[in-house]
Amino acid sequence: MASSDQDHEYGFGTRAVHAGATPDPVTGARATPIHQTTSFVFDSAEHAASLFNLQTFGNVYSRISNPTVAVLEERVASLEGGRAALACATGMAAQMTALLAILKAGDHIVAASTLYGGTVGQLGIGFSRLGIETTFVDPQDPDNFRRAIRPSTRALYGETLGNPLVNVFDIEPVAQIAHEHGLPLVIDNTVASPYLCTPFDFGADIVVHSATKYLGGHGTTMAGVLVESGKFDWAGPLARDKFPEMLEPSRAYHGVKFYETFGDFGYTMKARMEVNRTFGGSLSPLNAWLILQGIETLHLRMQAHCRNALRVAQFLAEHPLVSWVNYPGLDSSPHYALAKKQFRLIDGAPGASGILTFGIKAADPARAGERFIDACEFLSHLANIGDAKTLVIHPASTTHRQLDEAELARAGVRPDMIRLSVGIEDVEDILWDIDQALRRAT
Ligand SMILES: *Cc1c(COP(=O)(O)O)cnc(C)c1O
Repeated sequence: MASSDQDHEYGFGTRAVHAGATPDPVTGARATPIHQTTSFVFDSAEHAASLFNLQTFGNVYSRISNPTVAVLEERVASLEGGRAALACATGMAAQMTALLAILKAGDHIVAASTLYGGTVGQLGIGFSRLGIETTFVDPQDPDNFRRAIRPSTRALYGETLGNPLVNVFDIEPVAQIAHEHGLPLVIDNTVASPYLCTPFDFGADIVVHSATKYLGGHGTTMAGVLVESGKFDWAGPLARDKFPEMLEPSRAYHGVKFYETFGDFGYTMKARMEVNRTFGGSLSPLNAWLILQGIETLHLRMQAHCRNALRVAQFLAEHPLVSWVNYPGLDSSPHYALAKKQFRLIDGAPGASGILTFGIKAADPARAGERFIDACEFLSHLANIGDAKTLVIHPASTTHRQLDEAELARAGVRPDMIRLSVGIEDVEDILWDIDQALRRAT
């Protein structure tokens, strides 16, 4: 199914269930079949040659494309309002593929300092080993991005909602700064999901996802997706000298000129053919199918995550054993106004997803944090977010354990910080478990 038919635009829920899929023309199967095959038979020698020359669209080998994976790609592109998408093995692989499609040794990225820790490692350490440098800037002032841009800069990078700070990224002014310099803005939309926010509407050019989180939604499957808006002009006066590989014949792929040949999905084709095909971070058909199952209920789950998280945040804000709460959906949050601008309203409040943080009032708050985690009955202690189940972690003693006090402060991780990924269970039970654990921890 396409995003629109005749004069009718399908709504989000309908696209979450249908986009990219049709009943199987061979068997009539209504569910998307899992095409668990590495390779696809050619009709003839001529057909094979035209596929390899990219003159005919078709499947050759599942590292490059696969029909089950293609349904996921079309579905996420539709939900984001983008032109085309490429699925990858993990969120980390999707980010890497999105950036390596346009960056090479000597190039530079300006990124928010509040990114997911794994991404800080990928850009700051992993990419620096490849000769690609990243400057991390405080995203609260968009002009910090402008000040950090160099002649070698090739992308600006941020997250709709940071993790674990749940700070809201002001996409519009940073996109404007990017475009004034002929650069694309890449946004990681993992924590908001396309149900709550579509970064292309605010000027982003490329969106990346860890589909492992809310898109899959059940903590079962690793996957990532990159999406292209189709609006960035790679041949524009400010961009053309920066991205000659989008315009010139590809050495890595049969001399194809990606932008000239594929136009508004040329970037995705370059990511597919020059990065995924060459570096191999492709998604398996079974995992694509599992993520598709999750996406069918994305709109329903995100409403429940947001409603529950807001209730939990309000409960914690009034709790005598809690010293502070950080949730952008609370009208007392410094991020509330931006949340209202960028996120879908749910029951009149900005849907700010399911992640929140708080601190415990105690003589030794760090120790109380550890005791709180141990005292939880059904909240799961683990390092993930975006599960239907409520998850809890104490970053200072786990994910951020290696950092000293100054580094913790720079990352915005207080020693007493507890991070909750609020699930879709009955909210009364979540509140009960938090309350009894707070009382046992202090
Ligand atoms: C988890 C996560 C990633 C990495 O995704 P994986 O699927 O774990 O590789 C990237 N960005 C954000 C915001 C995440 O939460």
